[in-house]
Amino acid sequence: MRYIFENGNSNNDQPKKRNNSKYTFWMKSILRRSKEIGKVELPICSIILDERGRCIGRGVNRRNINKDPLGHAEIMALRQASLIKNDWRFNECIIITNLEPCTMCSSALIQARMGKVIFGAYDKKRGGLGGSIDLSKHESSHHKMEIIGGILEDECSQILKIWFKKLRNQK
Ligand SMILES: [Zn+2]
Repeated sequence: MRYIFENGNSNNDQPKKRNNSKYTFWMKSILRRSKEIGKVELPICSIILDERGRCIGRGVNRRNINKDPLGHAEIMALRQASLIKNDWRFNECIIITNLEPCTMCSSALIQARMGKVIFGAYDKKRGGLGGSIDLSKHESSHHKMEIIGGILEDECSQILKIWFKKLRNQK
């Protein structure tokens, strides 16, 4: 798996812990919340940090609960954070989420001018930031975001694998 460091370099090695420890702290909290929501929804949680590192938005997947096709964790977090910021621009903010944003959410993050996107597991089928397609590098993208994937990747993948396995067993 390819890791991209904050300085823009990428290589095939495990990222150095000191580079990403601040994100693993938040990712662990996201994973705990994902496990909870996983009882009723796809276990995905997103948080948004402001320029001082304060959490200004949090969202979980609510597609089934709200009967809302836009009810993805990233969109929920963006809505909450934009209310708190009273702004739609997020240039100085970071979003952290356990699964690579889908194409809808990736586009929403570009529209929101998100400063940095941190995610855990890559989504090879639906990922919009490199797993399947990379919308951030598409010529239609007028905003360049810093993207770091693969934070606690194994733990993040595991929660989703278990969830899909349970879903298959229920059918
Ligand atoms: Zn999404």
